[in-house]
Amino acid sequence: MLDIQKIREDFPILNREVNGKPLVYFDNAATSQTPQVVIDAIVDYYSNYNANIHRGVHSLSQEATDAYEKARIKIQKHFNAAHPYEIILTSGTTDSINLVASGFESLIQKGDEILVSALEHHSNIVPWQMLSEKTGAILNVIPMTQSGELDMDAFAKAVNSTTKLVFVNHVSNALGTINDIETIITTAHSVNAAVLIDGAQATPHIKPDLQDLDVDFYVCSAHKICGPTGVGILYGKKEWLEKLPPYQGGGEMIETVTFEKTTYAGLPHKFEAGTPNICGGIATGVGLDYMNSIGFDAIATYENELLNYATQKLLKIQGLTIYGISQHKTAVISFNVGAIHPYDIGTILDKLGIAVRTGHHCAQPIMDFYSIPGTVRASFSFYNTKEEIDVFVNGLERAVMMLS
Ligand SMILES: *Cc1c(COP(=O)(O)O)cnc(C)c1O
Repeated sequence: MLDIQKIREDFPILNREVNGKPLVYFDNAATSQTPQVVIDAIVDYYSNYNANIHRGVHSLSQEATDAYEKARIKIQKHFNAAHPYEIILTSGTTDSINLVASGFESLIQKGDEILVSALEHHSNIVPWQMLSEKTGAILNVIPMTQSGELDMDAFAKAVNSTTKLVFVNHVSNALGTINDIETIITTAHSVNAAVLIDGAQATPHIKPDLQDLDVDFYVCSAHKICGPTGVGILYGKKEWLEKLPPYQGGGEMIETVTFEKTTYAGLPHKFEAGTPNICGGIATGVGLDYMNSIGFDAIATYENELLNYATQKLLKIQGLTIYGISQHKTAVISFNVGAIHPYDIGTILDKLGIAVRTGHHCAQPIMDFYSIPGTVRASFSFYNTKEEIDVFVNGLERAVMMLS
């Protein structure tokens, strides 16, 4: 059992008011709030050992380098990657995906097939479209079903000997569906296709074991797992990271430079050109420690309770439709009420201090599938409460009354 009141005290922002009402923060799928330990780590870095890493002989640089590399090891351990150098630190999920997509330009040919799922975030669609335009590779889509799940039969049929890459999110940010990535990875590997899993929406709720999954690439963002913005994680299997060419040229990513020829540094530095977000990387490690101290099993159990509680209450509202009704989903509820525009609901809820997301959630193809402009999305975290859900449902009922 989690002591939610005690957990809430770790998050200073949860004490504030918005528009004269206590904040109810239900936009966790967009970004998580930041616990005091992470804020402290950021202040500590800039107060006590701010220095550039990997280059200085002086003590501050050593301290900063040690802390940064320790964070990489924390991340490696958290995800159970085989080696610390398989963890590349980037600026976010989007950056991580672009790194891999750009690397594949030299590994993929005209006529090769790239498979992407219908449930993707734009950041896991557009880089592959750009790759397919540049290389002549064919981009095919794994279709989704009315319940908001991937059509796994269609997927099994689509995979063939020309399939070179498969890209799927672990959890859909728009609907909360947990995809069967185990089957996807095994099936893709049966034709020697590489698999990239976008874990941005899964990592706040699930602790994946990357060696067990045998996935080729796994990406996520620190700001959704109690860390700071501007830090992304890219896990790549050693064999793949060695095959991919560097992403950006610059300092830190080289071994030797002359105007005739530059040789590149080994992993992970080959992919980390320039000064990274040092403080952010360190704070990411602290955020993961914090979440692990609560425990991912406890988090999943509690969030599931919140999801069921909110789903039951919402379904009592007349005309309310929930999009994404998989049995396997995280604590995300995407919905509309009758023909009311989601934006109008979101605006009224904001006046009541309740933060939800409205719109297409960077997943327009899903909205097109349901023939809707967007949804209202409430997404819960382990620091939310049933009382907050009551406030939200009451607020929603008021909004619906005013708008219909
Ligand atoms: C948030 C999110 C992204 C984008 O993450 P950034 O931090 O904005 O780069 C990509 N995919 C999914 C599933 C997401 O939820």
